[in-house]
Formats: sequence, C-alpha cells, structure tokens
Amino acid sequence: MSSNELIRHFLTQQIELGGSSVVLPRAPGTEVDAESEPRAGAVAGAEAPAREEERTESWTAPDGRVVRGSAERVELAKLFYEEGSCTRCALGASRTRFVFGTGVPDATVVLVGEAPGAAEDRQGLPFVGPAGKLLDELLAGVGLDRASNVFICNVLKCRPPGNRDPLPEEVELCSPILRRQLEILKPSLIVTLGRFAAQALLRSDAPMGAMRRKIHSYGEIPLIATYHPAYLLRNRQAIAEVEADLIEAAKLIGGEGG
Ligand code: SF4
Repeated sequence: MSSNELIRHFLTQQIELGGSSVVLPRAPGTEVDAESEPRAGAVAGAEAPAREEERTESWTAPDGRVVRGSAERVELAKLFYEEGSCTRCALGASRTRFVFGTGVPDATVVLVGEAPGAAEDRQGLPFVGPAGKLLDELLAGVGLDRASNVFICNVLKCRPPGNRDPLPEEVELCSPILRRQLEILKPSLIVTLGRFAAQALLRSDAPMGAMRRKIHSYGEIPLIATYHPAYLLRNRQAIAEVEADLIEAAKLIGGEGG
C-alpha cells in the first residue's frame, strides 16, 4: 500500500467513526480538516469530561498533505503513516492490510486484542466479524462504543497465517506500535481481550484464569483482563463472566454499573 493510500485509509476510518467533516485531500498540500471529532470520553449516564483535545494541531505528511485536528488525532495519524508499511517481522510480507486500530482519539477505554483475523486482514479494521459484533453488543451494555469513548486495537497489527498464535518474537517486534498508541491515547483504563494481550501488556505468563478479576496496572493506567470475544463464540457460558468484567470496568471509570 502506498503512503497516500495509507493516510487515506486512516482518514476514511475516522470518517466511518463519525468524523463527518474530515475532508480527504485530493492533491498534495490540501488541508485535512479533522476538527469535528465524535464526542468522546462520555460513558452513558456520566457527564462527559472537558475535552482537552479541542485545541487544534496540524501536521504536514511527507507527501505534502496536511492533517489537522486534536493532538491525539494528529499523533495517531503520524504513527499510522510511519508504521503502516512495517516489515519488522515476517507478517509484514503476508498480510493483506495493516490493522492499526479503530475508535476515538480521546478514548476513555482502550481494548487490546491479540491479532487480526481473516476479516480484519481484508478490511484493515479490528474486530469486524462475528466476534466484533458480540464485543460491540457487550460494550453497549455498559455504555461503551467505538464511536464515542473507546479505541480498539491488537497487540499484532498484521494477521498471523491461518490465525495461528502470535510468536514471541512477533509480539516483541510489534510492541512498540502498541506502546506508542497507548502513550498517545492515555486512556483511563485498558481492557485486554484474551490471554495473549494480557500476557503481552503485563509481561506475564500467567494463565487467563489467574489474570481475571483483578485490577492490574500498565504504568499508571489500570488494566483488567477478560476473555477474547472469539472464545465467547465457542463458549457462550463465559459471556456472563465478560459482562461482569465489563461492569467492573465501567465502575472503574465511573460509568454504568458504577
Ligand atoms: S506484525 Fe507488527 S512488527 Fe510485524 S510486520 Fe506487522 S506491524 Fe510490523
């Protein structure tokens, strides 16, 4: 994918997420107005916090395009632009699309999964198949959604062939992208989905059962671990456990269930 296609793809994602006034540039030097962001930080039933991001910044990409918007939006665009052609590990050669993440730049909660699957690889977006639909339903139950107050991404940005488990060296090589995303997003809470994401962020080899129902920390950010929605599709009885974890998550950020 060319750099132009990468930035266009990123900005298209932002439009899909509600940034309706984002204007895709038609020529180098055209300004991208990313001012109109979806209202973020609000968990249903709670007063939305003041939006620091209302200040506007701009960045001129190497191809002359100008991205304007909140500091977080501009920094995410820069990161997407810098890393979208990454080939640090072998997955860079086999992927269809680099799957950066989706959501709002001033997210209250960042959800981190394992790696893109087949549908994600085709579309370039995380959690778009049946597992993603189930995740969206569970998030809606506690007033969270990717268009308002959530950002969703994976530890790996490229699909492992055949949906095999990520290799330790792939996780190591890809981790700087996730770390930078979290530095930019500065969420109030991280929720990991599945064992790999929890182990990667907590640098632990503990099993899933030992990591659930505790409040961990990633730096100064509280982190809770829950099951991956793909696991829930195979084990419907675990849905209630994830609902309970998400209620705890909502309590931590002062939203529904709190
Ligand atoms: S998985 Fe991560 S490290 Fe590997 S090529 Fe993709 S972006 Fe780069």
